[in-house]
Formats: sequence, structure tokens, C-alpha cells
Amino acid sequence: SATSRDRLRIAIQKSGRLAEPARALLASCGLSWRESRDRLFCYGETLPIDLLLVRDDDIPGLIADGVCDLGIVGRNVLGEQDGERRNGGREPAFREWRALGFGACRLALAVPESWDWQGVSQLAGKRIATSYPALLSQWLAEQGIAADVVLLSGSVEIAPRLGQADAICDLVSSGATLSANQLKPVETLLQSEAVLAGPAAEFDAVRGELAQLLLRRLDGALRIRH
Ligand code: ATP
Ligand code: ZN
Repeated sequence: SATSRDRLRIAIQKSGRLAEPARALLASCGLSWRESRDRLFCYGETLPIDLLLVRDDDIPGLIADGVCDLGIVGRNVLGEQDGERRNGGREPAFREWRALGFGACRLALAVPESWDWQGVSQLAGKRIATSYPALLSQWLAEQGIAADVVLLSGSVEIAPRLGQADAICDLVSSGATLSANQLKPVETLLQSEAVLAGPAAEFDAVRGELAQLLLRRLDGALRIRH
């Protein structure tokens, strides 16, 4: 079983926005690796700390299942999957250990540029397209707004032009994608960046010590960067 490993396993994005900065940060902690032929594993050489290269969406589940001990993933992905677990009545299985200072973006509500935005009450009865249904539903509930959440897995920003939704809730960094689709951001639901995620439960002794060693080095590396 996963609990009998004596090496620490960290899940990171295989390719995409967080892949290179995650590896660079871990390398700056003194880790180095030998890559497996199929590019699934990176086997730790300087310390018994291995990397698993996966899709970012898989990272919280890998931690929840104990397949990986730690992961580097956007707060948006971690928060969404934590919300899904909550909505399903399950216990929290992972949590944010450290904010890492890269991959900054925000989960924002955007409406057509033609709307005269007065406030969240305008969303009542509207359809809002998103890939983040748990975070959006939670926010709507906090605002006391009843709206329809339309789940889309991609290309959320074109939904209003296609007539699938009235507004959207999506990740924004520069805002260029929004304005290209005649949308404007009006509310921020979540400020996001890459985070080190770990389990909600404690590690056993061996992996606990490795995790503490890594955290000390990581905190040192993050201090130098800021
Ligand atoms: P994967 O193939 O691993 O599923 P992906 O396409 O879901 O990749 P990326 O586009 O690489 O993921 O984004 C990874 C993370 O980068 C996001 O979850 C978010 O935390 C962060 N990010 C930063 N800026 C942006 C942005 N402008 N748009 C989307 N994500 C961003
Ligand atoms: Zn993804």
C-alpha cells in the first residue's frame, strides 16, 4: 500500500503553466532527479524525494488517495476539489501548506461589456458558465443569489456569445481573453497562485521527517525570492 513507502512523492504538472516553475522551485531546494523513460516519474538522486508528472486536475485526488504525499497545484484546482468533497459530504483530505508565489491569476465573474454593472443582485436568475461549479456555487450562496450554474469543461469565455450563458466565472490573468469576447470582470471570487498541497492527516515518521526537511528548504528558497 501507499503507506509503506519510505520515499516522499510529490505530484507536479507534467506540462503547462506550472510545470517548469514547480521543477525550478524544487531544484532550488537542492533536489535533483533522473527521469523515467516514459516521463511519468522523476527519481530523486540527492534525496529520497520523487516526482510524479501528471495533469494538474489529478493532483488533489492523488494526495487524497495517498498515491502522492505532496503536490504543486493552483489554489483554484485545490479549492474546487475541496468544495466538491464537501458537497459530497466527505471529510477534507488535503490542504494548502504553502503559497509559492508563481502561477498568479484570479477566479473572476465576468459579464458582457454592455451590462451596466450595479452589483451581484443583477445575477439573480441568470445563467453563469464555469469550470468551477463548487467555488461558484459557494460564492453565490454567500452572496444570497439564486442563479443557474452551467458547467463547461473548456472555452467558457465564448458561452455568452453562443447564448449558452449570460455571464461567466473563469480564471483571469491579463484580461485579454475576456475583452476579446466582449466581457468585463466585475467580481473576484478567489485570488489564486500555485500552492504546495499536502494531506489533511499526519505523515508517518519517515515521510514526516522528509516533508519537514523539504519545508525548511522551501521556506528558505521562498524567502530569498521575495
Ligand atoms: P493540464 O494539462 O495539466 O490539465 P491545464 O490546461 O488544466 O493543464 P494550465 O493552463 O497549464 O492547466 O494552468 C494551470 C494553472 O495555472 C491553473 O490551474 C491556474 O492555477 C494557473 N494559471 C495562471 N494564469 C492562468 C490563466 N491565465 N489561465 C489559466 N490558468 C492560469
Ligand atoms: Zn488541468
